Amino acid sequence: MLYNQKNKKINLINYDHFTMQNFMYEINEKKFRADQIMYWIYQRLCNNFDNMINLPLSLRNKLKNISVIQFPIATKEIISSDHTIKWIFSADNGVFETVYIPENNRGTLCISSQVGCILRCKFCATGMQGFKRNLLVSEMIGQIWVIYNKMKYDKNIFRYPITNIVFMGMGEPLLNFNNVFKTLNIIFSKHGFHIPKKKVILSTAGIVPAINKLSNIFDVKLALSLHAPNDILRNQLMPINKKYNIKLLLSSVEKFLKRSRLNRKGVTIEYIMLKNINDTIQHAKELIKILKNLPSKINLIPWNYLPDVNFSCSSFYQMNLFSNFLMKHGFFVTIRKPRGQDIQAACGQLTGLVY
Ligand code: SAH
Repeated sequence: MLYNQKNKKINLINYDHFTMQNFMYEINEKKFRADQIMYWIYQRLCNNFDNMINLPLSLRNKLKNISVIQFPIATKEIISSDHTIKWIFSADNGVFETVYIPENNRGTLCISSQVGCILRCKFCATGMQGFKRNLLVSEMIGQIWVIYNKMKYDKNIFRYPITNIVFMGMGEPLLNFNNVFKTLNIIFSKHGFHIPKKKVILSTAGIVPAINKLSNIFDVKLALSLHAPNDILRNQLMPINKKYNIKLLLSSVEKFLKRSRLNRKGVTIEYIMLKNINDTIQHAKELIKILKNLPSKINLIPWNYLPDVNFSCSSFYQMNLFSNFLMKHGFFVTIRKPRGQDIQAACGQLTGLVY
């Protein structure tokens, strides 16, 4: 009988289409059964083999014996005054969070890729709590499934349907490469959620070997957390920069862009605005210099407050000054609107703790 190493039943939610087809082969079933099972799970949001009525009874029984369809459990739901919603998922060894952000007729679901984060960026609460483990495919795709399913029953708390998915929750997605890769496969596949590729963004702090690997195997819209225009400052704010400095990082992104169809308009550069740290016109000048050959658009992120750190967010006036200076030099710049701050659901505030 087919069990995984721990002698537990196999969770089919960890399988992308390719792996599901292989699984069907292993259990002596036809490949097309993979299409049918995935149709029930992702298009019909069905998690009960008995309801998969176009599968022969014998196959349904076989599947019940050896496998399960198991999603992570959202143990808490917190709704912000701005209609952002945060869910806390409980899992073995730690918790992780998912955030829904409604804005201008769009609904964005921000999902986590790890429990905690190893990178310890100085301005981010997730990094401060340390790293626990990578999320499984079932836990990442499960965040989307569970919220879609909630939407079926609890329509009125969601202002708009989910139109976009961003890997900007807890963790560094490119340090959980294989599982994130499979999860993206399910998100994009016509046998999975079939979400258009341009509606999904992966945000990274800049893991150079992973960006290089990505160029060779997969296309995805990319956002890069740059946050500083020189190595001295970036080393202080983001320790990962000591391993992969700005030059290395930007040249790997440049190579990635050359192969990418989805990033034809350029990569999104995320830049947190920290008062008197990285927000002066001198910093803007340095930023222009390092980005001049990289097709990009810049997203300035007002820093979200965290207790016990010596940062504050730049003033509105300074952010506009910084942004206007960049725009005068031909950059496309937006300033991100902070959302869900009252429930600790904004960027960098995700810790799995309820305040
Ligand atoms: N590890 C990935 C994705 C997670 S964070 C990455 O670094 O890109 C998503 C974005 O929120 C990143 O740009 C991150 O730098 C930013 N962020 C972290 N802490 C923040 C804070 N306190 N205020 C505003 N943005 C923050």
